[in-house]
Amino acid sequence: MSETKECAKCGDDLSPKSEEELCSDCKQEEIEANEIDTVDKDYPTCPHCGNEDHDWCEGTLTEDGDVEWHRCHRCQKSYKVTMHIVATFTTEKFGGDER
Ligand SMILES: [Zn+2]
Ligand SMILES: [Zn+2]
Repeated sequence: MSETKECAKCGDDLSPKSEEELCSDCKQEEIEANEIDTVDKDYPTCPHCGNEDHDWCEGTLTEDGDVEWHRCHRCQKSYKVTMHIVATFTTEKFGGDER
């Protein structure tokens, strides 16, 4: 009796010794579907595990477009961070001495 294993998604034959539940094609799809949203976030977000780096201000990022490599505290993998600064403005009357 031969042991067979099938991809849980598409039913393709897998190697019986494979530890995987999915064939390589479906696995790739799964990874892409679970892509972590890392664009324009309030904090640098690890693209590997989704961990937010709340200590980013201890780094060297100061200006719009600055780039820095971070190592994730959770998964220890490295990733690139680009800082985006959105301009905001505050105005006040100057001393009440209006002209
Ligand atoms: Zn498959
Ligand atoms: Zn991480």
